Amino acid sequence: MRMYDVIQKKKTGGKLTDEEIRFFVEGYTKGDIPDYQAAALCMAIYFNGMTLDETAALTYAIRDSGQRLDFSNIKGIRVDKHSTGGVGDKTSLAVSPIVASYGVKMAKISGRGLGHTGGTIDKLESIPGFRTDLSPEEFEKAVNGNSLAIVGQSADIAPADKKIYALRDVTATVDSMPLIVSSIMGKKLAVGDDCILLDVKTGSGSFMKTLEKSEELARIMVEIGRRAGKKMRAIVTDMDRPLGNAIGNSLEVIEAVKTLRGEGPADFYEVCVTLAANLLNLAGKGTVSECTELAERAVSSGAAFDTLTAMVRSQGGDTGVILDTGKFKKAGFSRAVRAGNTGYIRKTDTEGYGVAALLLGAGRNTKEESIDYSAGIILKAKTGDFVNKGDEIATLYTDDESRFTASEKKLLDSTVIGAEKPEERPLILSVIE
Ligand code: URA
Repeated sequence: MRMYDVIQKKKTGGKLTDEEIRFFVEGYTKGDIPDYQAAALCMAIYFNGMTLDETAALTYAIRDSGQRLDFSNIKGIRVDKHSTGGVGDKTSLAVSPIVASYGVKMAKISGRGLGHTGGTIDKLESIPGFRTDLSPEEFEKAVNGNSLAIVGQSADIAPADKKIYALRDVTATVDSMPLIVSSIMGKKLAVGDDCILLDVKTGSGSFMKTLEKSEELARIMVEIGRRAGKKMRAIVTDMDRPLGNAIGNSLEVIEAVKTLRGEGPADFYEVCVTLAANLLNLAGKGTVSECTELAERAVSSGAAFDTLTAMVRSQGGDTGVILDTGKFKKAGFSRAVRAGNTGYIRKTDTEGYGVAALLLGAGRNTKEESIDYSAGIILKAKTGDFVNKGDEIATLYTDDESRFTASEKKLLDSTVIGAEKPEERPLILSVIE
């Protein structure tokens, strides 16, 4: 088989066979196929798409490109939750302990920030001492003991995705439906959970900007997971505004902790309870409405907070900052961002808010860059709120004062203020089985 022929076939709109797709994934992972041919195929896929069968074949080839974790030593129902990525999206930090507090096993493998979106692993690493690199034995022991552990993805899981993603990132081929599906599900299916709940974000802060595209993404991922024997569900949730008020690593941990203490922002709490209820339902704990009550009770009783604290302890983190979030290291500098005119915040370019946080040091511009864990943004006003000219709409935090100007400009450019109050948009937009 020749890579040239595979590219030619996709370029002219042909349907690739399973063998051709495996030939590409295996050859590229091993280094037999050069970057320029892989890039040409990604671009052909970008323009001509893939059928569901081709997308499934690409996903399973990525899944099989490295180690597969079977988790058979973890006793009980194993569930996982995956977000397609957003701004201020710290749901894993709150949802996982809610679910685990009922003994449902959350053996989570999470990612780092990607572009303008944050990542759970970076957030957890803002807790002093917290280890995200547990050995497989330590990981299993932690999950069997506390029902919850969250670690980073090892290089051995779906190595094809690492190479293909890095290539897509520099060849303008990230936003392709089959490439996104196979990237996310290739990694998820390499891990032996019984049920997977997908939180598919939609709107200006997500990879999929329209509800129609997000629902299509959700349907394809659910079907590909189902074909691989997993119990699947997807919830499409709003990312046209940041979730909660905190953007940035330790700021988001603090907000998640407050939420588990019943003091979090209403939008974040609602999304967390919905996701947790659906995970508990997938794990057989009752109807969705019964599980909603269970999720709320886990917060009001303090059980979820205790489970989070136990996870931090078992992964070597300093529980002092969880018990008293005032002990988190604070950023050296802060600056108030003020509204340029009077009116309602009509909409935000939420991706722009993610970039504004990144400009403060909360994310990376290159793989090698280190993160300023205390950097980020606390929002004081969001879409739908009325502000007067000069009101503080956000506070920026960073250890490097020179970062303020660009970040503030980005945030203001990403905020539209006008006379008319915008229509309210629900946070939970659809459920896809
Ligand atoms: N997240 C991933 O892991 N891959 C993508 O392609 C997009 C989001």
